[in-house]
Amino acid sequence: MKIESLTIDAVRQALGTRQASAAELTREALRFAERENPRTGAYLHFSPERALAAAARVDERLAHGEDPGPLAGVPVAVKDVIVTKGVRTTCASKLLANYVPPYDATAIVRMEAAGGIVLGKTNCDEFAMGSSTENSAFGPVRNPVALDRVPGGSSGGSAAAVAQGTAVVALGSDTGGSIRQPASFCGVVGVTPTYGRVSRYGLTAFASSLDHIGPFARTVKDAAILLGAIAGRDPADSTSAEAPVPDYTAALDGNVKGLKLGLPREYLKDLKGESSDLLYRGVDVLKRLGCEVREISMPATDYAIATYYIICTAEASSNLARYDGVRYTTRSPHSDTLSEMYRNTRGEGFGAECKRRIMLGTYVLSHGYYDAYYLKAQKVRALIARDFARAFEQVDAIVAPVSPFPAFKLGEKLDDPMAMYLSDIYTITGSLAGVPCMSVPCGQTAEGLPVGMQILTRHFGETTMFRLAHAFEQSGAVN
Ligand code: GLN
Repeated sequence: MKIESLTIDAVRQALGTRQASAAELTREALRFAERENPRTGAYLHFSPERALAAAARVDERLAHGEDPGPLAGVPVAVKDVIVTKGVRTTCASKLLANYVPPYDATAIVRMEAAGGIVLGKTNCDEFAMGSSTENSAFGPVRNPVALDRVPGGSSGGSAAAVAQGTAVVALGSDTGGSIRQPASFCGVVGVTPTYGRVSRYGLTAFASSLDHIGPFARTVKDAAILLGAIAGRDPADSTSAEAPVPDYTAALDGNVKGLKLGLPREYLKDLKGESSDLLYRGVDVLKRLGCEVREISMPATDYAIATYYIICTAEASSNLARYDGVRYTTRSPHSDTLSEMYRNTRGEGFGAECKRRIMLGTYVLSHGYYDAYYLKAQKVRALIARDFARAFEQVDAIVAPVSPFPAFKLGEKLDDPMAMYLSDIYTITGSLAGVPCMSVPCGQTAEGLPVGMQILTRHFGETTMFRLAHAFEQSGAVN
């Protein structure tokens, strides 16, 4: 059994045939991950005690002839912005370097109830702000496909762990592309579900109206299984949706004949080079599978970056106010007065990107600027959502690039925040509209760098999204 290429089905079979127990498998997965992790730095820390306790519960259920759940014994990597009871959760920030949460995120509770094993916590951009994982207070992650390149961000550690084989699946978070873009850069599947599909309870808030938890996997089926396990209404998150959770794997029947797909003109006009060639090749594959492809227009796209960076910084400036040195935050030791303590704690604790966003967000919310920036951005957000609503009157799914370029070199964009922000151009629209979207591998450049294809569907249309991605993956056109 090769631990680095396991799928959920392979784990189920190994347990079912008694080839391995969940405890044996977990020990082997931990050994492998701890040995391989220094190559990329995908994990910040491991959680062997918790992992082995969960594995023991799975073995016990098996011994009693009970159904151990759809994720039984599956090693899962968890982005370190999702809280885990008793396991350090740092958000890749100095401020939370020693924070051990007293509770679990709902997604974690559900994932473990389904038999999943939390192997460890993965590195990311500080408080999920970034597109390269270089904003972590604990150093960057390397892309396992090309070690001198970034894995994307902000969920770069989760994407890298799945690509490297140190986890079978992973949980990440996406506010403006942080699951899809690293999935694309590392050559794995990454899914941002409909806003409200997965409870945000226990996901450290960055921009609450945009934050999502979602899965990474090496196959579309595995991503669908993981999403099915964590999705659904949660009384602890009032924005979680009542809509029943369908059996996503039942939709993976390969039948995409007659599906209408839209290619947004505004997304393709500036796409260049191999990223463009690979996307068009992917679209040809979908046509051969029987999909009808047409051009569509989404005119508000040009305003998306400005809109996103106003709304997300405004929300972040409010959400990050809680890290004040009084409660769970690491407190600066060198202060004489209370206000000095706040200043020193936040000044020493936050990295440059968080500070930039707190300042920008405070500015756009301030008296006299609120109408010009924040309110305007909310109106434009409605226009972007309307573009999607109109598109989905004509087509069943939208096919688009994930990123203007494949994984870039470490350090390449670090000193240029604008260049970093612009790299989110194709992912933030879906986030602003709250529709489900995903990245599925679509080929590699001549240099061997992975490129993903983005598929977006209407709210709660995950079934169609998975069906299309699965048919594409199974066509064998991409390897
Ligand atoms: N790259 C985007 C940002 O920096 C998206 C981050 C995210 O989705 N968490 O805000």
